[in-house]
Amino acid sequence: MKLLEGKNAIITGGSRGIGKGIAQVFAEHGANVAFTYNSSAESANELAKELSGIGVKAKAYKSNAASFSEAEQLVKDVVEDFGSIDIVVNNAGITKDNLLMRMSEEDFDKVIEVNLKSIFNMTKAVQRTMLKQRKGSIINMSSVVGVKGNAGQANYAASKAGIIGFSKSMALELGSRNIRTNVIAPGFIETEMTGKLDEKTVEGWRQAIPLKRGGTPEDIANACVFLGSDMSDYITGQVLHIDGGMYT
Ligand code: NAP
Repeated sequence: MKLLEGKNAIITGGSRGIGKGIAQVFAEHGANVAFTYNSSAESANELAKELSGIGVKAKAYKSNAASFSEAEQLVKDVVEDFGSIDIVVNNAGITKDNLLMRMSEEDFDKVIEVNLKSIFNMTKAVQRTMLKQRKGSIINMSSVVGVKGNAGQANYAASKAGIIGFSKSMALELGSRNIRTNVIAPGFIETEMTGKLDEKTVEGWRQAIPLKRGGTPEDIANACVFLGSDMSDYITGQVLHIDGGMYT
C-alpha cells in the first residue's frame, strides 16, 4: 500500500545518509519529493534522477538550512514547482564535537544555526502555505543525544533538545489548523559516514543497544512515512524514539 500517494514533501539534507533514505522511501510510497542539499550537488542530482525514475516528481534544491532568507526562497520555489506542501522533514544537521573546554564559540553557534535555527526558518517559511491548506505534517529530526545529553557534544545536544521544545510549542500553536508537528529521536544510525569508523568500535556500540544492531536510514524513513501519512492524523507534539531501545 502506498501511504503517501500524491503528497508533496520537502526534505532538508536529502543528498546523503538518513535524508537520502527518507527521500527514497517517500518516493516508493508515491510522494513527490523536493529535497535540499548544502554542497553535495552531484549526489543530489543523481538522487533526483533516481526518484524521477520511480515515477514521482523529484527535484533537488541547493539551500542552506541555516539561512532564513534561503528557507523563504526555497518554500516559494517549491510551491511554484509542486503546487502545495503536505509534509516537511527538517533533517539537515551537523556535528562539531568537542569537550566544552575546547569548544569554540564559532562551533557552538554554527551547530545551533544549522540544527535548530533551521527549524525556525523552515516552519516560518512553510506556515502560511500550510495554514491556507488547513493541513500539514512537520517532522523534525532530533537525536537520543538531545534527550540524554552526551559528553563532547554539548552544542549538538543543546540544538537537538531545543528542537523538542520548539516542536511541542508548534504542536500547541498550529494544532487548531490541523498542522501536526512531531519529532523523531534516532539512536545510532549506520550510514556511509559510520562505515568509515573502526569496525571494532562500532561493534561495541551495536552490542550496547538492546536490539543488538545499529539502525538504518530505512528504519527512520518508515517512521517518517507514518508521521507524514494520514495514518497518524491524530498524533502531534510527540517524540518518537527510534533507537533499538537505547533510551528506555
Ligand atoms: P549526514 O550523512 O552527515 O547528512 C547530512 C545531510 O544534511 C546532508 O544531506 C547535508 O548536505 C545536509 N546538510 C548539512 N548542512 C546543511 C545545511 N547548512 N543546509 C542544508 N543541508 C545541510 O547526516 P545523517 O547521519 O544522515 O543525519 C541526518 C539527521 O539525523 C541530522 O539532523 C542528524 O543530527 C540526525 N541524527 C543522526 C544520527 C546518526 O546516527 N546518523 C543519530 C541521531 C540523529 P550536503 O551533502 O550537501 O553536505
